[in-house]
Amino acid sequence: MAAETHDIVILGGGPAGAAAAATAARAGLRTLLIDKARFPRDKLCGGLFTGRARDEYRRIFGRDLDPALFSERRAIAFHLGPTPMGRMDDVPPMYLTMRRPLDAHLLALAGEAGATLRTGTRVVQIDLAASRLVLEDGTAVAYRVLVGADGVTSAVARALFGRPFDPATIGFALEKEMPPVSDPETLATVRVDFGVADWGYGWSFPKPGSTTVGVGGLQARNPDMKARMRAYAERLDQGDAEGMKGHFLPFGDYRRRPGRGNVLLAGDAAGFVDPITGEGIAHALGSGRLAAEAAARAIREGRAEEAAGLYRAATAEIRLSLAIARVLRPIVFSETMAPLFARRFAGSSRVKQAYMRMLAGEIGYPTLLALVAWRLPRAIWRSWRGGAPGPAQNRA
Ligand SMILES: Cc1cc2nc3c(=O)[nH]c(=O)nc-3n(C[C@H](O)[C@H](O)[C@H](O)COP(=O)(O)OP(=O)(O)OC[C@H]3O[C@@H](n4cnc5c(N)ncnc54)[C@H](O)[C@@H]3O)c2cc1C
Repeated sequence: MAAETHDIVILGGGPAGAAAAATAARAGLRTLLIDKARFPRDKLCGGLFTGRARDEYRRIFGRDLDPALFSERRAIAFHLGPTPMGRMDDVPPMYLTMRRPLDAHLLALAGEAGATLRTGTRVVQIDLAASRLVLEDGTAVAYRVLVGADGVTSAVARALFGRPFDPATIGFALEKEMPPVSDPETLATVRVDFGVADWGYGWSFPKPGSTTVGVGGLQARNPDMKARMRAYAERLDQGDAEGMKGHFLPFGDYRRRPGRGNVLLAGDAAGFVDPITGEGIAHALGSGRLAAEAAARAIREGRAEEAAGLYRAATAEIRLSLAIARVLRPIVFSETMAPLFARRFAGSSRVKQAYMRMLAGEIGYPTLLALVAWRLPRAIWRSWRGGAPGPAQNRA
């Protein structure tokens, strides 16, 4: 059977796929996006949309955030076990959203940009050698560049590398939508709890219609994640954890080579998720855009086979920020360093401010690393000398 032909085929219609499809269509590529789900569909996610995600959204879709989809929050509170580690008001804006309407919105924007959307369709065969896919209805689809934006269990990553992720390093998270809160201060505050999971944390994101409560971290370190989620729900006292749902998330293990030849991986499929916060939407949007830009250039220059090389160079900044976060991560989570982190860094309003500015896209991870590297030896020295202050204290 003759195959229908597209310049670029994008597998997956989450943030990475929608960003890739909108960018590719705008660049004039014949663009097909395929998703096995019909939209709107659920995606387990806290729905915390950072300033850097907002900046990517504006850049890709050329518009501001729709207030009907996003609630702005300017306050965040950190806890360690039962102990408050400090609340920050007036941090750079964060936005809370629900993925069901958000992803449907992003996909609609990709369609408006000119991408052909085929949802509710499974791909049954990926033939990398022939640059061809076969859909469940038997349709053969040929591509010049393929983008795997099909999430953490990516079929494209499996076709390229044999498996989508390493079970030894993958993250896992549980979540449940709890009733909304009425107390105005709680409703205005994003809450993060360290110590709830090993090499991970808990979160409570208060939205107008519900409160998204979750616990996540390295799967190998948390075989008892369900019990941890139950205990966390009990502590928050916002509802029980029955009916919680789980999902893998990349948590530190990203692809140094996010593709090969004319096949590129974007978003979770490439492991582009922050290994400290678990934030993935910003990198999904950013890498989706970069994948489409690399594809457009490679096709324009008649060298589609080199798209992965162009894309790898383009994602250097994302990969550097993930590499730095991996360096910083043991300070936050390891058994030896975490108590010091709680006493010194979480107690430092300057470091916390810098972290929030990094999430807002105002500074990069390299600046944050420089700040922490400067303070770390002094903190270790003071801690070694004794007299470490309590976790709730704040100092600049
Ligand atoms: C519990 C949890 C909480 C999180 N909270 C946050 C948060 O608050 N903020 C944040 O920034 N990040 C968060 N993340 C991470 C974030 O959800 C992901 O990084 C983000 O969704 C990645 O987007 P994506 O487009 O790469 O993949 P996805 O959003 O997973 O989209 C992949 C799409 O591919 C489709 N697909 C899969 N396989 C196929 C196939 N074979 N054929 C066709 N289509 C296919 C799926 O149906 C899906 O629509 C969280 C993750 C988890 C698990």
